[in-house]
Amino acid sequence: MTNSFFAKKVDRRSRSAMVDFLRTHYRYDTLNSWNRSTSYAQCIKIHRLGLTSEQSDKAYDLLETDFWDEIRWPIDEFTDSQGGCYTIGTNGRSGGYLVLHEPRRELTGHLSYCPSCGQRNFKKVPPAFEEAAEQVIAQEILKSRNAWQSGVYLSQPSIEALLLSHDEKLSIITRLKAQLADCSLTDACGACWKPRRNYSVPPVVQLAVYAGKGIDQGEAFDAEEWSMEALRERVDLVCAFDAVCDQIRHNFIALLVGYDVVEETVHRPVKVKVLRERAAGGFDAE
Ligand SMILES: [Zn+2]
Repeated sequence: MTNSFFAKKVDRRSRSAMVDFLRTHYRYDTLNSWNRSTSYAQCIKIHRLGLTSEQSDKAYDLLETDFWDEIRWPIDEFTDSQGGCYTIGTNGRSGGYLVLHEPRRELTGHLSYCPSCGQRNFKKVPPAFEEAAEQVIAQEILKSRNAWQSGVYLSQPSIEALLLSHDEKLSIITRLKAQLADCSLTDACGACWKPRRNYSVPPVVQLAVYAGKGIDQGEAFDAEEWSMEALRERVDLVCAFDAVCDQIRHNFIALLVGYDVVEETVHRPVKVKVLRERAAGGFDAE
């Protein structure tokens, strides 16, 4: 059971209690102080964690080890439970603050991938065309990276040679130019040259964690804009954030109790240059 060091009980039936909780909650910069954006936060500096003096002494030793990955899992659980709409980042010198973030969702921009080696590509695989004229015109468009105006293609020898009228050619060129936008010349993977495949679902969405956007900065929580339901949702979010801060503090204390920091000498392979005597007869004086 995690003690509530950061978490507070908030009366969700009272508008003033909820507004008071949100307006007086500790805040910190989302990015830099000059960025002037702030969000709900908690300070997790050692002297602010309510540790015993014995725990504090040990905590400073612990800071010299790579412990963060051992205790940060509640952040991933929180981000998942919020459907990726909110996450928590560290900020401040030596990460002394946990800050609630509203991450920006971004497309990776990849349009195809290689099933053989997994390499992603920002271009699509070009479609296959059955008609010979379409094939010829598609090749010219792809070879020129779709860079020319439709009329320019008409004067390409391979297109001039096609037995179609000027207007028919022009209409195919215009149609294929649109269809081949974002396509690479071939379907070959840039890494292993095996055939790529287009993504059938929109390209993977990525979270840009440090968007730096503030949350509820200077918010007055007017009754007009904030219904009781909206306030409750916000209070639930901030309370869930506080609970994560408590869980991380709990995990940190568990490390202090369960582990000792010991010094170990780590041997790493080092490359050095040495002199080696040549075999007899290996050196001919001039
Ligand atoms: Zn590949």
